[in-house]
Amino acid sequence: MKALVWHGKQDIRCDNVTDPEIEDSRDAIIKVTSCAICGSDLHLFHNFIPAMMPGDIMGHEMMGEVVEVGADARHKLKKGDRIVVPFTIICGECEQCRRGNFSVCERTNRKKELADKVFGHTTAGLFGYTHLTGGYPGGQAEYLRVPFADATHIKVPDGMTDEQALFLGDILPTGWQAAVHCDIEPEDTVAIWGCGPVGQMAIRSAVLLGARQVVAIDDIPERLSMAAAGGAITINFETDSVVERLNELTGGKGPQKCIDAVGLEAHVTPSQPDTLMDRAKQVMMLESDRPHVLREMMYVCRPGGIISICGVYAGLVDKIPMGMAMNKGLSFRMGQTHVNRWTDDLLRRIEEGQIDPSFVITHTARLEDGPEMYKVFRDKQDSCIKVVLKP
Ligand code: NAD
Ligand code: ZN
Ligand code: ZN
Repeated sequence: MKALVWHGKQDIRCDNVTDPEIEDSRDAIIKVTSCAICGSDLHLFHNFIPAMMPGDIMGHEMMGEVVEVGADARHKLKKGDRIVVPFTIICGECEQCRRGNFSVCERTNRKKELADKVFGHTTAGLFGYTHLTGGYPGGQAEYLRVPFADATHIKVPDGMTDEQALFLGDILPTGWQAAVHCDIEPEDTVAIWGCGPVGQMAIRSAVLLGARQVVAIDDIPERLSMAAAGGAITINFETDSVVERLNELTGGKGPQKCIDAVGLEAHVTPSQPDTLMDRAKQVMMLESDRPHVLREMMYVCRPGGIISICGVYAGLVDKIPMGMAMNKGLSFRMGQTHVNRWTDDLLRRIEEGQIDPSFVITHTARLEDGPEMYKVFRDKQDSCIKVVLKP
């Protein structure tokens, strides 16, 4: 089959690889009908998160038709079912899964020892996302093996298009969880840094959850326009002072709730560092020509407020003003998304027409065009916001 394969820094190719097969009785195989490129894939593209290996298949946003089912998944899935695959592989049975903490499932990371060493504990297996999270082949491919498929799936209701359902596997619940983590109250101003696909979902979610005011921050005009169409007041950090504008909008008090939908990107200059030392300087010493999102959030957030981080970080991120956060009594919430925790609620909201997540799609292309589309998405060429690939 064809798949997008990681070969090294900024080197993703569409290769012919071996078709996946059932390896365990809880597995299923899907024929991928739609998959997408995520901001998290860009971290791997840039090699900012170590532990990718040449030959790894990319992709963690995918859906398709079930073509094969292992014996122990047949009570939940059958051939022909249309499913979205959540990016977090879950067993559905361990203590964390029972609490709904799906992204830290204790059983699905097949490289637990590595995660144990680096993180102190294992976290869930993730598709197409480094060997720290299991090194599972991803879904930017014609076929995908879904481990623990009896638990790791979202059934697509009849009549719902791929475009409406696809983002239930990652960016919609990610933006939603970031907003839920803000414990939004009717008088709240929620400020959201980053208007990429995840930020856009967070904006729509904060509006749906009843924030008085949602403020969106980025420097890309078309992303700011999409944010405004979703009900946000916008700030272009290139031309405006984020702190001054946020204070103006909140009577000088600052937003009660702040969401980081940027992550690693905020620490790294657009010209990518070539040596480890350059990268260390940028990531750890925060030598960047862009404002540092976490510090800006902590500075402007109203005392007693919440900092909700859905942007992805890796390694050490240093020079965080802990004293300021401590004295202001800020709460921090973060994590990979517990995708399946939010599925029922979000499916209902899509069916009721409260949200149609397909609004972010600006580009649809063939899988073979994937390597080129990574560059288009990274460089925001042609007003690119979200790319969907059709294997
Ligand atoms: P993206 O790269 O398309 O969007 C990032 C946006 O941030 C861009 O529009 C960029 O212009 C903007 N930005 C950069 N620096 C900024 C600054 N200083 N202030 C304000 N905006 C700034 O990526 P995306 O797909 O929207 O993903 C966003 C983040 O969410 C990534 O870090 C990704 O890894 C992460 N993510 C996390 C989860 C999770 O489970 N927690 C899931 C999916 C994605
Ligand atoms: Zn993602
Ligand atoms: Zn589990």
